[in-house]
Amino acid sequence: EFHPLTASVQPVFDTVLARSPHEPEFQQAVHEVLGTIAPVLEQHPEYVEAGILDRIVEPERQIMFRVPWVDDAGKMQVNRGYRIQFSSVLGPYKGGLRFHPSVNLSIIKFLGFEQIFKNALTGQGIGGAKGGSDFDPHGKSDAEVMRFCQSFMSELYRHLGEHTDVPAGDIGVGGREIGYLFGSYRKITNRHESGMFTGKGTGWGGAEVRTEATGYGAVFFAQEMLAVHNESLDGKRVGISGSGNVAIYAIQKATQLGATAVTASDSSGYVVDDAGIDLDLLRQIKEVERGRIVEYANRRSSARFVEGGSVWEVPVDIAVPSATQNEVSLADAEALIANGVRAVSEGANMPCVPDAVAAFQQAGVLFAPGKAANAGGVATSALEMSQNASRQRWSFGDSENKLREIMADIHDAAFQAADKYEVPGDYVTGANIAGFQRVATAMLAQGVI
Ligand code: GLU
Repeated sequence: EFHPLTASVQPVFDTVLARSPHEPEFQQAVHEVLGTIAPVLEQHPEYVEAGILDRIVEPERQIMFRVPWVDDAGKMQVNRGYRIQFSSVLGPYKGGLRFHPSVNLSIIKFLGFEQIFKNALTGQGIGGAKGGSDFDPHGKSDAEVMRFCQSFMSELYRHLGEHTDVPAGDIGVGGREIGYLFGSYRKITNRHESGMFTGKGTGWGGAEVRTEATGYGAVFFAQEMLAVHNESLDGKRVGISGSGNVAIYAIQKATQLGATAVTASDSSGYVVDDAGIDLDLLRQIKEVERGRIVEYANRRSSARFVEGGSVWEVPVDIAVPSATQNEVSLADAEALIANGVRAVSEGANMPCVPDAVAAFQQAGVLFAPGKAANAGGVATSALEMSQNASRQRWSFGDSENKLREIMADIHDAAFQAADKYEVPGDYVTGANIAGFQRVATAMLAQGVI
């Protein structure tokens, strides 16, 4: 159930409901943005006149395709591939690919929609897109993953290019998959076009800090929110969900900044380790062995595994949800609040359900939405594109400094927009308004196309 919106935006939402009745995640993401930008429309009737909103909720192009491949047993498999090219008004389409059995049109559209505003917030000249497949890389051999990636790219390549659409990773798409996908594009097109994919290996066009950037950025954002109140991460207990790329580097950065990261999770349950998560062990299990999180507790005496439970029942000062959409329920938020959580920085995309977000905000918890807090990943992708275009390689230190600056700028843009529209400290509204205004200004200037 969605609550009503102001009269200026309700018709746009009604159209979305009518056109996309079976896309709950997409509806949720649109509702969240529409619910915060009405004050901007009041000040800018020209946006309404130019149909900015009517256009922005409709992707520029939607690609869905068959991905046939043969498994190790010689059996034919068919998956569905997606690329939703949402908006190219600020730059080439940009956004990750997700390989996960839950992937469907609704999920890719919600992610693509969020990506428009996230990418605008980075200030890096990148449009919004998302793609992926319901293919599940878990339990597949390297050879199966490679054949799948080659088949996926044999269709998608025609829609990509460094000035057209530049994918990257997301859930289920890491270094291995990016290698196979980039390799097939290069072979099919006979172009070593470095800038057509980001998250590449650092030995073949990849940028330093890209792998770390999403997790690092989410922690930098928490640091920025705390700094406004003269607080820091030093000595804080940090709760992190997930155990993929975002979680791992959020744990690393939180630890480097003097906090103790005490949790990690996967779909089977979570581990809590009061001594602080041992990152080498976690990486060995998740990245090298591609195993389950229970293994972590089996090999570490200070840790215990809780099967099926919610990681948010563990008392923490800072929470960085880094698993997937809608993973933090209202009950989870209430538990975190009861345990005295101070700040929540979304490492994943839309991990908190709308009621959870409202609960955090009402309780005075500092809350950063994913489109601001996890924008460090795609921002560093844009840095990778810059380096590819100019054939440069920046050092790890320079790249990390640049990321830190970008996160501070995103924080300030959201913070100031919230102030200007008289909802001080509301980063959800601030991020939506700041991102939306950049997109709307460009759409207005470029005419009705
Ligand atoms: N998948 C990441 C995101 O959700 C990164 C996208 C990119 O680097 O293009 O923003």
